[in-house]
Amino acid sequence: MAHVANQSTSETITQFGRYVIPNYRRFPVCLVRGEGPWVWDAEGHRYLDFFPGWGCNLIGHCPPRVVEAVREQVGQLIHVPNTWYMEPQGAFAQALSERSFHGQCFFCNSGAEANEAAIKLARAYGHSAGRYKIVTMEHGFHGRTYAALTATAQAKYHAGFEPMVPGFTYVPFNDLEAVAAVLDDQTAAVLVEPIQGEGGVNVPSPDYLPGLRRLCNERGVLLILDEVQTGLGRTGEWFAYQHHDMAPDILTCAKALAGGIAAGVMMATTDVAMVFKPGMHASTFGGNPIACRAGLATIETIEQDGLLERGKAIGERFRAQFEAMRAELPHLIREIRILGVMIGLDLTFDASEVVSECLRRRLLINATHGHVVRLLPALNLSDDLIDEGCAILADVLRQMVV
Ligand SMILES: *Cc1c(COP(=O)(O)O)cnc(C)c1O
Repeated sequence: MAHVANQSTSETITQFGRYVIPNYRRFPVCLVRGEGPWVWDAEGHRYLDFFPGWGCNLIGHCPPRVVEAVREQVGQLIHVPNTWYMEPQGAFAQALSERSFHGQCFFCNSGAEANEAAIKLARAYGHSAGRYKIVTMEHGFHGRTYAALTATAQAKYHAGFEPMVPGFTYVPFNDLEAVAAVLDDQTAAVLVEPIQGEGGVNVPSPDYLPGLRRLCNERGVLLILDEVQTGLGRTGEWFAYQHHDMAPDILTCAKALAGGIAAGVMMATTDVAMVFKPGMHASTFGGNPIACRAGLATIETIEQDGLLERGKAIGERFRAQFEAMRAELPHLIREIRILGVMIGLDLTFDASEVVSECLRRRLLINATHGHVVRLLPALNLSDDLIDEGCAILADVLRQMVV
């Protein structure tokens, strides 16, 4: 493909300075093109991407089946409101239902919106019984809209925006007794990520999710799983809860849901879902034909290319690479946390310098929770590129003076 930049990176940065609200910290790089594991900047430099689209590009940049489906759909029907039936939305809902717990879908456009829908549905379900409280976990992340932000039990995200939405209670993650202690007859739901993403790739003990399920059943409380980051194959199963013998009442998913096209979904068991009557909740763009075609093409790609299995193998290859790094640099690496292509390398020091040094060497990674290197690579990353990127990362770690 020809060089596609219209202006230099520095011209774009100047334009942002004048016209774009500065609510993000951005790297001084303007990306103009992506293909599989690679992205290119305006100057034509190529980068190996171990964090494609902040987890949204689960099958790589510009996956061919998604590109083809969107191209076809965009020429046929771009958008119609949810006052009409549309084939792609029904087909996508069926595909998701059949790959999870056979519930029903509400579509929206982002993770925060999916969680807002889940919180509203849980409250509507508990309303006649006086159940409205939502229990969430410390270091969790659920989005930036008000209820999702309130659900996010991290003070740094609340600062300056108080007062928050009433009715939320926070307990430590991976602690069943703490949850049992706060559930009461006003509790509507427990909301939790199966693996905490932004909170540092925190994998709970194997009995945690089944234990939450049991507790919720005993106390008449709904269990909502936020699979916005873990969903649609990230962990080597369609949804992370499928590593266990249990299922939620409500599940949210977004990031990877439609191969990089904006989309969110809240799924609920039919028993819970039927509380939503016409007019109680809505999203103008939710379930639009383009996003749903993209989602269907994403599922098709993962299935036809055997990518759930591949995701597990990629995770194990990263684990082996990280174990070797830890053997060589034991003072730098505290813990390795991996499930499929959800990958955390917990360092003994602030990881931001590792990120900027990797960027200098044209490897894109992420740091979260201060000291955790987080990788959310695509499910179709090759062994050679895993090794190539890990060699860069190991080299960068070797040069760290801590
Ligand atoms: C990213 C994320 C969200 C928020 O999603 P947005 O699309 O940014 O609103 C919510 N929950 C989890 C677990 C996430 O990782």
